[in-house]
Amino acid sequence: MVSKKHGFATRAIHDGQAPEGLTGAVNVPIFLTSTYQQEEIGKNKGHEYARLTNPTRDALEESLCSLEGGTSAHVFGSGMAAITAMCTMMKSGDHVVCSDNVYGGTQRVFDKVLANYGLKFTYVDTSVAENVAAAITPATKLVHIETPTNPMMAITDIRAVADICRAKGVELSVDNTFLSPYLQQPIALGADIVMHSTTKFLNGHSDGLGGVLICTKPEQAERFRFVQKCTGGILSPFESYLLLRGVKTLAVRMKQHDANGRAVADFLKGHKSVKKVFYPGLAEHPQHELAKRQQNGFGSMISIELGSLEQANNFAKRLRLGYLAESLGGVETLICHPATMTHAAVGAEGRAKLGITDGLMRISAGIEDVEDIIADLDQALRG
Ligand SMILES: *Cc1c(COP(=O)(O)O)cnc(C)c1O
Repeated sequence: MVSKKHGFATRAIHDGQAPEGLTGAVNVPIFLTSTYQQEEIGKNKGHEYARLTNPTRDALEESLCSLEGGTSAHVFGSGMAAITAMCTMMKSGDHVVCSDNVYGGTQRVFDKVLANYGLKFTYVDTSVAENVAAAITPATKLVHIETPTNPMMAITDIRAVADICRAKGVELSVDNTFLSPYLQQPIALGADIVMHSTTKFLNGHSDGLGGVLICTKPEQAERFRFVQKCTGGILSPFESYLLLRGVKTLAVRMKQHDANGRAVADFLKGHKSVKKVFYPGLAEHPQHELAKRQQNGFGSMISIELGSLEQANNFAKRLRLGYLAESLGGVETLICHPATMTHAAVGAEGRAKLGITDGLMRISAGIEDVEDIIADLDQALRG
């Protein structure tokens, strides 16, 4: 492990990734093994079975832990597997307060799977911190927030919510997928757990799924290690390797994503076919000042209102460089239609409450030349 004194980009390249002992290979090998030879009964080299530990996965966990400033990290086969594992900290009857504008899949696993096991969920607009305080009951064990939210880009004040949680003895988890640890550090702002769909910016190349929980307390680490072992939803050695490789360039990628995001949002703001732009980096965003304070940049996630499903589909069909696709955070520009894609499961009524209209499109600006991204959006908007 490299000292905490090093900067983010240095840690992204070195932490957890010392040259391999046998050959000096500077790149962490992919340890494709399901089991490990033991020297005698009860004596091994620190590894017994690959559901429990794998050196490639261990390296990745150390790297992600360092970047978020936690005490341990635990990777899973997807972001949803990570969220589900987090919820095993609770028992039937326990209550969770959650941002009302979370990733559609998060709400789906809460309401359609975990609610069947007696967990209770309340959704509030966490961008008003007092709503969180009002929703906490004696049964509340966890507050789970996403900031900025998907796809409306509302910002929650992490420090304010963390203070409320601490005062009430409730744990706070933050889904940091949209910004990555380069642009936002929830643990430094008081969060107890950070989670990611590593599928997005951390991987960055749209070539593998994954999820991670980063903790701050020994009892969380013990719990999540135990859940990895018991339920087995771990990340494979190959995908761990892809993620390690992606994370090495996180700092340079995020700098470019942030620069491109700002330029694209500025361009869209002035476009006659765009009715509204949702981007925390714009001065007119209602929480622009908060975003400036708690983030190290504004990122590359932008939503635009085009007015109708027809306008949205015309725009989608005309795209040449950007891809109409689910997901985000890849090097390539990805554009999605939340009403029929990420938020289809939320239902028409749920979407109406959140302001997710049929004319809303979400853009994940890639790191292509920004002039090319803008030219493509412009021709697709003009028709
Ligand atoms: C994609 C996503 C998830 C789910 O992660 P998977 O890796 O697709 O399982 C959770 N939260 C956010 C914010 C996401 O964008």
